[in-house]
Amino acid sequence: MISKDFLRKLLIVTGALLITSLLAYGLRSDKNKKPKTDSSVTEKSEVKKESVSKRPQLDIKTATSQYVLVNKTYGIQPEDYKPGDLVVPDVATSSSDSKDEQSIREIIRPSLEKMLKDAKASNLDLVMNSGFRSFKSQGFYFNNYVKQSGLEAAKKFSAQPGHSEHQTGLAFDLSYADRKCYLDICFGQTDAGKWLADHAHDYGFILRYPYGKSDITGYQYEPWHFRYVGKDVANEIYEKKLTYEEYLKNLGLITL
Ligand SMILES: [Zn+2]
Repeated sequence: MISKDFLRKLLIVTGALLITSLLAYGLRSDKNKKPKTDSSVTEKSEVKKESVSKRPQLDIKTATSQYVLVNKTYGIQPEDYKPGDLVVPDVATSSSDSKDEQSIREIIRPSLEKMLKDAKASNLDLVMNSGFRSFKSQGFYFNNYVKQSGLEAAKKFSAQPGHSEHQTGLAFDLSYADRKCYLDICFGQTDAGKWLADHAHDYGFILRYPYGKSDITGYQYEPWHFRYVGKDVANEIYEKKLTYEEYLKNLGLITL
């Protein structure tokens, strides 16, 4: 037979266990509720707002902007735009180039001159081959490529007039003075090609058509073509291994 004393003890223990469980449950559900309080929602949206406002506001549409986007989709406006501040920089240029093509915009001159001077200090003798190219001369080049290789092939390595970065005065092609691997993908494997790929961002330039990204840029790998975007943007593009298009997409400025 079970004694009354035992039954009383059993009741006390069971009651105590029940109260403990209820308390524990209450505390746990309090914890679960915490992240949903109003104050933390406000905190979160404030953080979001702040990171949006810290994004650089880049003008990618105005031809004179150093951030102007020019590719197969985005053309220069007006299509016959010519920069007002073209200068012939103090660097080696190709004597066969016209005065226009020996020119770039004044705003990139100091950076270009410093980069080629520093390259020379590393025993790399570089020449700028094509700086500014007018709407008219781009049309001349493009039509010649079409005659030689057909329209589809020409589109892969040459821009249609109004869609060349060279028309912005912010881009140029580089080669060795002795033209080793001249406008050839083997330039990327030369000392100069490697040095430029590793250092151009220090001067505000980006390798505009990187290897393996032609589906995004629209152009095959061009280890000789560089474009100015300024140091901050160039550094980020270099560090994150992006194309300019991907960088702008991450800022929400374009879709791909
Ligand atoms: Zn080029």
